[in-house]
Amino acid sequence: MTLLVPREIVARTIDILRRGGAEKCEAVVLWLGSGPRGAERIAEAYRPDQIADKDFFRIPSAAMKDLMGHLRRTRLHVTAQVHSHPGRAFHSEADDEWAIVRHRGALSFVVPRFGAGSTVANFMDQTAIYRLSDDDRWIEVPDEEVLHTVELA
Ligand SMILES: [Zn+2]
Repeated sequence: MTLLVPREIVARTIDILRRGGAEKCEAVVLWLGSGPRGAERIAEAYRPDQIADKDFFRIPSAAMKDLMGHLRRTRLHVTAQVHSHPGRAFHSEADDEWAIVRHRGALSFVVPRFGAGSTVANFMDQTAIYRLSDDDRWIEVPDEEVLHTVELA
């Protein structure tokens, strides 16, 4: 059960996060994929309309509606969310509460320093990866499991 993420998706994600960072704002990107849960192939880095500041982001309900329409048209589903932090990469309480992905095994990636130091090559090392557990808690994926959880394609 490994998530496959094409390198160009990672590159586009970093680009979106950095554009937020240029405004000193967090940013969120949704990874849309197809295939069985936990073994999806990511097909698109989707940037929903968002309200963001230095230390938070929100997706307004109109933007959620746009997302739902997009998912229906493309037949993709939201596999993972990726968002940036000004500093350290960790899942904050707000992140737990506001996570867009909510299915069991969902993945949430937190990128440090607005993605400033991120490259496609170091993305998985720099990024903190959390998974929603069976009892609905966000648990960090240990380093030794990352390779089995996400793979660059
Ligand atoms: Zn956060």
